[in-house]
Amino acid sequence: MELNPDAHFAVGVNVRPTFVEAVLMDLIGSIRAETILPLQGGRDPAAITNTVVEAANQVIRLAQIDPGRVLGVGVGCPGPVANGRVVVGIPGFPWESEAWADRLERSLGLPVSLENDANCGALAEFRHGACSRLEECDSMVFLYVDYGVGAGIIIDGKVYRGEDGTAGEIGHTTIDPNGPRCLCGNFGCLEAVASVESLVRRAVASSKLDAGSHLAGILDGDWEAVSFEAIMEAVERGDPFATDALNDALSYLAIGISNLSRMVRPSMVVLGGYMFERGDGIVERLESEIGRRPSLFGMRPNRVTVGELGGKACSIGAGTLVLESFFGEAQQVIAPPIPTEVPEPSFEGTLVWPQEAEHGFVVKVSAVRIQSASDLRPAFSRIRSGEPLSVTVDVRLADSASETPPDVKVLLHWDRVALFGGNWATPKNSPMQLIDEKDGVLRYGVTLGSLPPGRYEFAAHVLGKNDIWVRTHDEHGESNGRVEVIASRAAADRSDDDNNYSLRGKEEARPKALAER
Ligand SMILES: [Zn+2]
Repeated sequence: MELNPDAHFAVGVNVRPTFVEAVLMDLIGSIRAETILPLQGGRDPAAITNTVVEAANQVIRLAQIDPGRVLGVGVGCPGPVANGRVVVGIPGFPWESEAWADRLERSLGLPVSLENDANCGALAEFRHGACSRLEECDSMVFLYVDYGVGAGIIIDGKVYRGEDGTAGEIGHTTIDPNGPRCLCGNFGCLEAVASVESLVRRAVASSKLDAGSHLAGILDGDWEAVSFEAIMEAVERGDPFATDALNDALSYLAIGISNLSRMVRPSMVVLGGYMFERGDGIVERLESEIGRRPSLFGMRPNRVTVGELGGKACSIGAGTLVLESFFGEAQQVIAPPIPTEVPEPSFEGTLVWPQEAEHGFVVKVSAVRIQSASDLRPAFSRIRSGEPLSVTVDVRLADSASETPPDVKVLLHWDRVALFGGNWATPKNSPMQLIDEKDGVLRYGVTLGSLPPGRYEFAAHVLGKNDIWVRTHDEHGESNGRVEVIASRAAADRSDDDNNYSLRGKEEARPKALAER
């Protein structure tokens, strides 16, 4: 049995100032259909709701799936969202404290997860994009520079939402008290000096004053028609007005990134939004602006990189919200497909490691002595979107076993570590089954399914007459990829003819490496 990606689907929608984009994702996060629809009929809640509903229905139709299998719709919104339900406001849109999630659910007939667009982008790049490639990336800032400016902040593997869900509004922090008025009413917000829209406004304002400017030459007085593309074309042609406007915006962005880095000190700053989707040297210019700023006491500057998901980051993140609430915490263990006649190992006492190991457990010991156990594969794994995972370990017996299968029990201990949701409160144990035997080596395996995304670490506990732990950590608890066999904690401390033993209260009997951890 394997996780069926087609069992359920999620729709992710992102609202941008002039259009709505939508993706349909399957259970493992693959995009099965996508669409972009222009915003028609204004920017009021009713009009945008209609476009969102149409886009969602369109991707469901395009993917040719059973609409009954859609779990819900995630929606990214270009303004702060309170408690995942209410849009507080959107700069430039006639919205005020709109209970939009309720309205969308009535119109869609599906559960809706509503979230600020930058938070969606942060979730997507963290889970599926730039941050997912790093072995250690527990904190991240996603700076979304579009028509507005926003940030999604990930701390300890979770989107940081603040008291009511509206954290991360870096775009409306004052960066120049003498700067222009922002759509929010404040003066000199980062958004007012560094967004794509403000960049266009600035370039137009200065170009208007000089008939020799590139923009004046190509526009024939139609200043309303100036686009970001036209500005970038002017920059490429060396037009000083457009170049100054771009440099000003990037220098403010560099200040904003520096402020964010010093406050959050993330593993990575990821850039997204229209500003960085064109790829014509803007990132290099921004990097040199950042490089010109002195580092704090010589500290290593934060890693800054462009997101890997491009314009789709926010809609993918919106869909991920739905998948995330569906998967919740993993419970399901999928049995391996081979050999079915092997009896389910029974564990009289379930061992929980490491938290509860020291409190002891009772287990019936078999007569088979384990010589070694090795090659735990994988030792750790990053699950991205619920894909099933098989783990195996090889066991060698001291004496060739007379029975088949031998009376050996193998538990896989697994724990989700420091990603979304942080550590589990209680790590899980799953029985492994004998799946292969070759040259005296018994291979035990188990397939885990429906795991929520995150980083997982594994240890195998092999139970025979003596106990053996197999782990791949060094003494600091760091994964080092090596396989270690940790000799029985109990063999030395019980009589061989004692078929049952208890570790309750005997802390000194814990395995050495376990005690050190
Ligand atoms: Zn503002």
